[in-house]
Amino acid sequence: MSQHPFIPFHRPSLGEEEIQEVVDTLRSGWLTTGPKTHQFEADFQAYCGSRHALAVNSCTAALHVALAGLGIGPGDEVITSALTFCATVNTIIHVGATPVLADVGPDGNIDPRSIEQRITGRTRAIIPVHYGGLPCDMDAIYRLAQQHNLRVVEDAAHAAGTHYHGSHLGDQKTSRSDAVAFSFYATKNLTTAEGGMVTTNDTQLNEVMRRLALHGISKDAWNRYAANGKWFYSVEEAGFKYNLSDLQSAIGIHQLRKLEDFTAARARLARLYTELLGGIAEVKPSPDTARGRNAWHLYVLRLNLEMLTIDRDAFIEELRQRGVGCSVHFIPIPMHPFFRPWADRPGQRWPNTMALYRRIISLPLFPHMTTADVRHVVKSIGGIVAAHRRLSVPRGRPTQVTRAATAS
Ligand SMILES: *Cc1c(COP(=O)(O)O)cnc(C)c1O
Repeated sequence: MSQHPFIPFHRPSLGEEEIQEVVDTLRSGWLTTGPKTHQFEADFQAYCGSRHALAVNSCTAALHVALAGLGIGPGDEVITSALTFCATVNTIIHVGATPVLADVGPDGNIDPRSIEQRITGRTRAIIPVHYGGLPCDMDAIYRLAQQHNLRVVEDAAHAAGTHYHGSHLGDQKTSRSDAVAFSFYATKNLTTAEGGMVTTNDTQLNEVMRRLALHGISKDAWNRYAANGKWFYSVEEAGFKYNLSDLQSAIGIHQLRKLEDFTAARARLARLYTELLGGIAEVKPSPDTARGRNAWHLYVLRLNLEMLTIDRDAFIEELRQRGVGCSVHFIPIPMHPFFRPWADRPGQRWPNTMALYRRIISLPLFPHMTTADVRHVVKSIGGIVAAHRRLSVPRGRPTQVTRAATAS
């Protein structure tokens, strides 16, 4: 059907710099946590403006050590978004606490009013998720946290590069969060294949998290095999095995240097998507905000289902046939059978999350995508819409002739 080569949902942007640094690490003889990881931590901490940055082997690990480090456990409730990846909720369960799922607003971010409705005497923390890299309404979240003496741990898996009121998430000048957890998974804006970082401005929490991330053993034991290392260490608690290797940090050092360029490229492509999609009445572009810079991890198209004769799943299948790879973020947490016992609480509904889920499609978006790729995706969307337009639009909705849908 199309001459354009297949456009994957995501393709990582890795260059010679990353390759050379990995080779250098292999030749150095030091593979796991060491000088490269320490450099990566220092660079990331400087980039965010946070007081501390701890490299770990995933964002899941980052969230886990943050919750455990804050002493959150059995009997405590932690409020997070119903529209997130399972890892956010799993880590709450891993520390023995009870996850409580709040609804989202139309932008896909946790709705502070829904958080407020779910606060009880047992609530200890809030985990806002910056959906697709779009910053949450942190001021409203901090206000609730202050009123109810709650901790705030940000799930910034999508948000390396996101700004809130002009600063990076976790910046010590502006952030009032206890910790911010980033993901460097293969598809994220900055990748180390697998990896994560947790930043904090609380020196004591940083020390506790550092110990928890390495078996619970006393600090600086990572270098016990180095020339100046000491063989002695002591175990202070049952920690986890969450440290990031130098092999992975070697990639991260260079990905971080490119992150501003990656973010700018994503923003340019997102602007083009929004401009071109504006001509198709049957879809809505991915929202942006004045709250701060969107890192554009995701470009989340919304289908106006009442104007179409096909559903979202069929739409994705047609996009695939036209050579466009897509995804859906996320299957709402309450829809997974495993989470039902936590989701089925009296009076808890997630109408916005559920309605959004039925109509969202994450379109291809990665820094090395071309503007021709974006045009092809939009042209494909226009073609599908033209083939499945509902002719009798429900009353009260104007029929609109779509420009991009009819353009060849
Ligand atoms: C990817 C992701 C995670 C988990 O990140 P890992 O680094 O793979 O552990 C957590 N939360 C959200 C919202 C994510 O998208």
